[in-house]
Amino acid sequence: MKIIIIGGGIGGLATALAFHQHGLTAHVYERADALREVGAGISLWSNATHVLQQLGLLTDAIEVSARVMAIHLKNPAGKILNVSRVEQYEPPMLGIHRADLLKMLQRDLSAQQIHLNHTFDRFEQVGDQMRVHFTNGAVDECDVLIGADGLNSRVRQQIISDGKPRYSGYPVWRGLVEVQRDDIPLGQPSETLGAGARFGIFPLGKGRIYWYATANLPEAQPEPPTGRKQQLLSLFQGWHTPIFDLIAATDEINILRNDCYDRPPTHGWSQGHAVLIGDAAHPTTPNMGQGGCMALEDALVLSKLLLANPVAVPATLKQFEQIRFARTAKITKLSRMFGTVGQWDSKFGVAWRELMFKLTPAYLMDLQLKSVYQYQA
Ligand SMILES: Cc1cc2nc3c(=O)[nH]c(=O)nc-3n(C[C@H](O)[C@H](O)[C@H](O)COP(=O)(O)OP(=O)(O)OC[C@H]3O[C@@H](n4cnc5c(N)ncnc54)[C@H](O)[C@@H]3O)c2cc1C
Repeated sequence: MKIIIIGGGIGGLATALAFHQHGLTAHVYERADALREVGAGISLWSNATHVLQQLGLLTDAIEVSARVMAIHLKNPAGKILNVSRVEQYEPPMLGIHRADLLKMLQRDLSAQQIHLNHTFDRFEQVGDQMRVHFTNGAVDECDVLIGADGLNSRVRQQIISDGKPRYSGYPVWRGLVEVQRDDIPLGQPSETLGAGARFGIFPLGKGRIYWYATANLPEAQPEPPTGRKQQLLSLFQGWHTPIFDLIAATDEINILRNDCYDRPPTHGWSQGHAVLIGDAAHPTTPNMGQGGCMALEDALVLSKLLLANPVAVPATLKQFEQIRFARTAKITKLSRMFGTVGQWDSKFGVAWRELMFKLTPAYLMDLQLKSVYQYQA
């Protein structure tokens, strides 16, 4: 079985690794000139660390990351609204640098199976084979084509053709700083919810702090003339420490900004011998920290199905969607809802949100989220 994967992100590389462990070389075609991730952190919940365990990477991942014990929700005055205890989850939840994760996923893959500077253009089915065309004129053929090309997937445009993703109403800024502070305990990330804005602090270990911020803004808002750092310093002025200090300690050039998108869950992930995974299939807003985790789950589920049934490929790809659709749809909807509530900006909305957090017992919140985080692909 020859497999081509479009996209060398988390989902594409994890899928190639899963096949590699069974002696199958999947070819990864990536448009960039190197396999790299943006300089930011990522949370890997137990459903994702379970996949890393299956891929033989958990020990290494623990080594370079920070284990999460509890997540605190706060208001801008610093008052704790809710604590989610996650230390009981196994395998553990981790906060990890994206570059470290990507390095691990590609470590056992050979240079011959990674094709950089190849932008996917289109595919055509020729009998039981897929012929894959790239914008540089290259052509390759395979038995299975996996579209792991992310949010604005071109493979998706050929399979589902449903246009642009849906804007959430807010961008996310991200930064990474190296600071030692007693008021950022290791293993205790926090998210602070204000009126129409949020700020998250996520220690990654070894003095590295990953932070993120959101604010209600129209799509594709131009950068203010004073720059994004000044914009954030103004937005979060007066919020509890160390929020202002973390922004101030981050170089402007290291502050990333992405408008946040998802898509309403949509069926039809496969066409003949081609299938979508990860953000290409089910892009979600980052509010539950689950997009990358779901891409890892997809990698394991799809590779297991194809290895068990390499002959009836179209049926196997349909089965993949059947297994994955409900779960990914639930997370995408929940994540969108969390984002909407998290971005409430009216006085009444903010007061109501705080009351909800106060009145909802922690065990009830955990109960709701357990099915997401304790899932084992
Ligand atoms: C602000 C923010 C915070 C997040 N935080 C978390 C978190 O804490 N936890 C979590 O689990 N998830 C998080 N996510 C989501 C996570 O980053 C994504 O869900 C995950 O990266 C999806 O992986 P993927 O492999 O499907 O796609 P991607 O990571 O987008 O990879 C796609 C790859 O395909 C390549 N590509 C694209 N088009 C082509 C083409 N035509 N030809 C060839 N190659 C192509 C791209 O260059 C890229 O390398 C966050 C997302 C954002 C925006």
